[in-house]
Amino acid sequence: MKNFRFTALSETFDRQVIPVNYPSNKISDYFGSMVFNQGVMREYLTKEAFKSVEMAIDKGTKIERKVADQVASAMKSWAMSKGATHYTHWFHPLTGSTAEKHDAFINPAEGGKALEEFQSNELIQQEPDASSFPSGGLRNTFEARGYTAWDPSSPAFIMESTLCIPTIFVSYTGESLDYKTPLLRSNDAIDKASVKVCRLFDKAITKVYPTLGWEQEYFLVDSALFAARPDLVLAGKTVFGHASAKDQQLSDHYFGTIHSRARAFMRDLEIESHKLGIPLKTRHNEVAPSQFECAPVYEEVNVAVDHNQLLMHLLDTVSRKHYFKVLLHEKPYALVNGSGKHNNWSLATNTGVNLLTPGKTPLDNLRFVTMLANILKALHTHETLVRASVASASNDLRLGAHEAPPAIISAFIGEQLTRTLDEIENMPSPENINNGGAKGVLSNIPKIPEILLDNTDRNRTSPFAFTGNKFEFRAVGSHDNAAKPMFILNTIVADQLNQFYDDVQQLMEKGIKTEDAVFKIIKKYIKSSKAIRFEGNSYGDEWKKEAKKRRLSNTPNTPDAIKAYLTAPVIALFERNQVLNKRELEARYEIKLDNYISKVQIESRLIGDLSINHIIPTAIKYQNTLIENARGLKDVLDHKTYVKLSRNQVQNIKEISEHISMIRQYVEEMTNERKIANLLDQFDQKAHSYCYQVKPYFEKIRYHVDKLEMLIDDSLWPLPKYRELLFIK
Ligand code: ADP
Ligand code: MG
Repeated sequence: MKNFRFTALSETFDRQVIPVNYPSNKISDYFGSMVFNQGVMREYLTKEAFKSVEMAIDKGTKIERKVADQVASAMKSWAMSKGATHYTHWFHPLTGSTAEKHDAFINPAEGGKALEEFQSNELIQQEPDASSFPSGGLRNTFEARGYTAWDPSSPAFIMESTLCIPTIFVSYTGESLDYKTPLLRSNDAIDKASVKVCRLFDKAITKVYPTLGWEQEYFLVDSALFAARPDLVLAGKTVFGHASAKDQQLSDHYFGTIHSRARAFMRDLEIESHKLGIPLKTRHNEVAPSQFECAPVYEEVNVAVDHNQLLMHLLDTVSRKHYFKVLLHEKPYALVNGSGKHNNWSLATNTGVNLLTPGKTPLDNLRFVTMLANILKALHTHETLVRASVASASNDLRLGAHEAPPAIISAFIGEQLTRTLDEIENMPSPENINNGGAKGVLSNIPKIPEILLDNTDRNRTSPFAFTGNKFEFRAVGSHDNAAKPMFILNTIVADQLNQFYDDVQQLMEKGIKTEDAVFKIIKKYIKSSKAIRFEGNSYGDEWKKEAKKRRLSNTPNTPDAIKAYLTAPVIALFERNQVLNKRELEARYEIKLDNYISKVQIESRLIGDLSINHIIPTAIKYQNTLIENARGLKDVLDHKTYVKLSRNQVQNIKEISEHISMIRQYVEEMTNERKIANLLDQFDQKAHSYCYQVKPYFEKIRYHVDKLEMLIDDSLWPLPKYRELLFIK
């Protein structure tokens, strides 16, 4: 029998470290060289045209056809000078990955010749035949048209000789079919709401935009070993595998020296990223063996999301050159850490202020506390929606397991800020402390203590932690499109800020001074959203009990978690802020359910297939050698000695039989449950059935398979083992 495991193993030992071709030792020499950025535009466009594009980027104004003609022509010349032959609209459909359809710059011309052409209409809008993208019923198959439309706020770039133009993707009827559209709409909502609130403090603020700095975790595995694991190939995770004798218990991988093969890969990855303008800055070993992380410097959220999508693509393409596969699944291996994406989110202003940085003056501090209190209030009001924003079949396996935040949403703000908020909560209202004598604007501001933040004040277990000048949302899945949690966060905070503004206005109409009104409302918010704050260990069981008392939700499974999308308050929230309408929400809900069902179904089939055609045949083969051996012993030994010595042997044979029989039984039962689930035609019932009837078999079957892995002759075992997948480098 051909054993793929050993072929794969022998291949991995031949791997050489691939030397990296440095374009230059100075990153600044090639940073952004493949990006049609503002610098290039300034060079290629007339002054007026450049101004108009700049306005479109900053203010979202419309670009005139004449200007678009110029941009298209400039893009073509620039792209061709960089060796590009094709162009594509590049978008983020609801599959979660990116989509592209390349067209050559070519147009037939007279005399059997051809001319390079790229017109503004090709830049501005395309109509891909999009019938196979998930639309959740928003687009009937007979009306397959979907539009992609240019997003000038994210720069075009060249990847593998193709000019890629970031676009949104909407249906014929204008409904969003992607992640970018609601993100841009939510940016608009939070801009308007924050500016309104900020102007209570500073009239110079006219623009607020969210910033995102993501941290991307991933696993590397040798490509030969990967190819010998059908589960990694088809599901991106291992469905079986006994724990390795050593895994992460010595904590010797985290921040350790990056081994040479991984380093060569990372260097290549960074060069490709830097050429595309992705400001990758940090790289390090993560906790699990063969787990790593990279992070850029933060950027405006729309650009940062595009860069994260690009980075995930580069992880895949660059790793191939180094005979690695990158695993972006949230839980590729049981019993060691999973992978997440940490979304560091903040709000920046046109005046260069980070709204989540405590200020130096009392007024700045009041503004800071206002933002903080509103964010906490938004999180408390919409904790179920925030949980839903990171829900997926694969992230369900990570949340609440091994150094990952639980499915309970809470916020950590650190000791100092907790003290500040407690003090505000217990402070008498300003009208009581300022008894007359008030002069000027600032004198009426209550004494918010000076806020000195200590950056070491960290809590690694919190899903949503304040880290000095930003919130770090740690529950995001590693493979997820980062836009999803971001547009939801933007929307809930925008909505809350609008509410805050109205609350303050109401008091002001009664003649209360601005600062007093602000203070009064903040105080109320701090009190009412207190339950969302948790400073303790979020990984512990104690927290689950405590969270229940606080009436915080804990929904570990996607089908339950995403119900939040269709509750009346959430639909109203999204409609009020013009981010998604009811139909769009329903469509997204359906797509998520469908995706969940497919993922669990694939995993279940894999478990069945591998059990029946890999594991059981191997177990029987080994068992037969044991039986033969026992028979042989009987022939050569006297009866008494045989009985004494063969006891273990026979026991072993029996044990193997028991495991085989249990696996067979469970696989059969699981398959029957799948058949029952498949007959259901309501998506939610089907997802529920897959979650509660099919999925529980995974662990049961795995238990017996992993036991067999320990019992059976290593030279027969067909699948690369954890010690090989995780440690061979
Ligand atoms: P950690 O110690 O958690 O790894 P870092 O301080 O290295 O965190 O930052 C992680 C990410 O947070 C980086 O991408 C960084 O650019 C980003 N970040 C820093 N400041 C902000 C901000 N104001 N808004 C958004 N992201 C930020
Ligand atoms: Mg971090």
